[in-house]
Amino acid sequence: MRDYLRNIYLTVKTILIGMRITLRYCFARTITVQYPDMAPTIQPRFRGFHCFEIEKCIACDLCAKACPVDCIYIEKTGARKIDKETGVALGGAILRYAIDYSKCMFCALCTDPCPTECIHMGDNHDLSGYDRASMIVEFTELAKQGLQTPMPIWMQKQDLPEWAQAKKQQWLERARPVREQMALALTERKPPPKPAAEKPTAAKPAAEPAKAES
Ligand code: SF4
Ligand code: SF4
Repeated sequence: MRDYLRNIYLTVKTILIGMRITLRYCFARTITVQYPDMAPTIQPRFRGFHCFEIEKCIACDLCAKACPVDCIYIEKTGARKIDKETGVALGGAILRYAIDYSKCMFCALCTDPCPTECIHMGDNHDLSGYDRASMIVEFTELAKQGLQTPMPIWMQKQDLPEWAQAKKQQWLERARPVREQMALALTERKPPPKPAAEKPTAAKPAAEPAKAES
């Protein structure tokens, strides 16, 4: 009997705790962010649409293998390797690097195994489109335009709110110093030839032993 009454007490108590929180929000002042006129609040560890540094990608497929929903597509003409002097990958061309955002879960599992740290979760939360096909972002096409991350359709206009103009500028500036290398990642580039090693000088023939005089 005692347990029975205690269960009733705990049930009522927990319902009241839950209802108290619900009631508090019922009477709270609602705030509507007038996006896109007003900037949304993006937390520092937000996982948005990817930012891809194609010039550092060695097309090793590790990100695609780690993806739990197989939504990363990579095509290349050959192996690529980071040039230690410049930090830029050389070798085969990257023909396609695409992510299907109709499947992506934004889990960031693709970023961890990347040996060159060239795929990151970005700070863009907005990717609108008119059909499913436009949910597949071709990062190789973006690289041709000097972009590392997809830009929302409305942000491609000139007349933008101040915060959006600043964000767009930030994305463009981030890729500007490496634009040339980004374009080169789409073509085959052989590593520079190694400096020829010095040939070892021919060893002098050993002096003939002096003949014994007869
Ligand atoms: S964030 Fe997750 S689901 Fe999206 S591409 Fe990366 S591994 Fe795949
Ligand atoms: S893991 Fe990194 S280097 Fe390898 S293919 Fe993916 S993005 Fe490129």
